[in-house]
Amino acid sequence: MKVLVINCGSSSLKYQLIDSETEQVLAKGICERIGIDGVLTHKPTGKTPVKLQTAMPTHTTAVSLVLEQLTDKENGVIASLDEIGAVGHRVVHGGEKFASSVVINDEVMAQVEACNDLAPLHNPANIIGINACKELMPNVPMVGVFDTAFHQTMPKEAYMYGLPYEYYEKYGVRRYGFHGTSHSFVSKRTAELLGKKPEELNVIVCHLGNGSSISAVKGGKCVDTSMGLTPLEGVPMGTRSGSIDPAIVEFIANKENMDVHQVLNVLNKKSGVEGVSGVSSDFRDLDNASKEGNERAAIAVKMFSYSVAKYIGAYAAAMNGVDAIAFTAGVGENDGVVRAQICSYLGYLGVVIDDEKVYQRGVEQEVSKPESKVRVMVVPTNEELAIARETVALL
Ligand code: AMP
Repeated sequence: MKVLVINCGSSSLKYQLIDSETEQVLAKGICERIGIDGVLTHKPTGKTPVKLQTAMPTHTTAVSLVLEQLTDKENGVIASLDEIGAVGHRVVHGGEKFASSVVINDEVMAQVEACNDLAPLHNPANIIGINACKELMPNVPMVGVFDTAFHQTMPKEAYMYGLPYEYYEKYGVRRYGFHGTSHSFVSKRTAELLGKKPEELNVIVCHLGNGSSISAVKGGKCVDTSMGLTPLEGVPMGTRSGSIDPAIVEFIANKENMDVHQVLNVLNKKSGVEGVSGVSSDFRDLDNASKEGNERAAIAVKMFSYSVAKYIGAYAAAMNGVDAIAFTAGVGENDGVVRAQICSYLGYLGVVIDDEKVYQRGVEQEVSKPESKVRVMVVPTNEELAIARETVALL
C-alpha cells in the first residue's frame, strides 16, 4: 500500500509518500508560507526536485498542489490518486484520550478538537490538515498518530505535578510528553539492533534536536519522559528554556515590564542554548563558535550535555537500571561533541565509549566498547516511516 504521511503546521505542511511494502520513500516535500504567498518544494525520489512559488491561500490548496505534483506526468511518482491507499497524520496532542493511533472519524475529530486547549499552536493546524485531505480524498482512510500516545503508559507518580489535584481533574494539568512516535520507533529499533525483544530491555532514549526530550522505556513501555504538559519542560533546547524555577516567570515579568504571555514567549523562543550563547540555536554553529574560543557558546553546549546526563541518571534510577542508551534526532545523530560530553558523566554506570565511533556522524551503530556495562547506540529516527507503519497496521 502507498501511504501519504502528513505533518501539518500553521503555515507549513510536510509530506512523504511511502510504499509500505518496500518502506521506500517515493517522494517527499514541504509547502511553506501557506496563507502568506506559498512555496512548494517537491522531491520525487530519483527525479529532479521541483520548487514552485505559487499562491497557497489555504491548506486545501496546498494539499491539492501536493497531489498534483505526486501525479504529475514529469515530476510525479504515481499514475493516479487511486494508488494512495491511506493517509497518516501526525497529531501533536492526544491528551489522555489517545493511548494509541486511531482511524479518523467524526468522533475522533471531536476528541482531537477537545485537546486544542493543551496544544493551541499545534492541534488546530493538525485538524486543518486532516480536513484538507478529507475534502480532496473523501474515500481514502485516514489515521491519526499522536506525539503523546507512547507516553500514556507512564505511571501516575511520573505524570502528576505537585499541584492542587483539582487542576489535574478540571483541566488535565499533568505530564504528557512529546516526540512519542520517535521514542517508540527508536526504542524498538534499539532492541532489534541488540538482538533482544523490547520487553527484555530498559532503554533511555535521548531525542536531541531543536526540541529535545528524554524518555525511560522499561520493557518496551514508556515509564517517564522529560517534556510535560507542553514541550517547554525538560532539558534546555535550541530556543526553549527547559525546566526552570517557576518563580522566574514573575521575577522577569516585573523586572522587564512584561506580562506572562510575553515571558512565556521568551522561554519558548529566545532561551535555551541560543539564549545562553547569544550565537545560535544550531549546534553546528555552537560547536564552531566554541572551537573559536567563544565561552558562552561552550557553556551553552556543556549546560545542555550536563542536563541530558542528569536525566539519564534519574531514569536509570527510575527503572532500577539501564541496559541501553540511544541517541537520536538532529543533534543526537550528528553531534559527536555532545554525545562524548554526555557520556563523560556516565562512568558510574559502567559506560565505556569507543572514542572514535562516538564522533562518527549519522551512522546507525553502537558507540560503546564491548566491555561497556550499558550499550550506547546512535539510532537515526524516522517518524514518517513510523507513522506509515502505524497507519498500515491499523487498517
Ligand atoms: P531536528 O530538530 O531533529 O531536525 O534537529 C535539528 C538540529 O540538529 C539543528 O538545529 C542542529 O543543531 C542539529 N544538527 C544537525 N546536523 C548537525 C551536525 N552535523 N552537527 C551538529 N548538530 C547538527
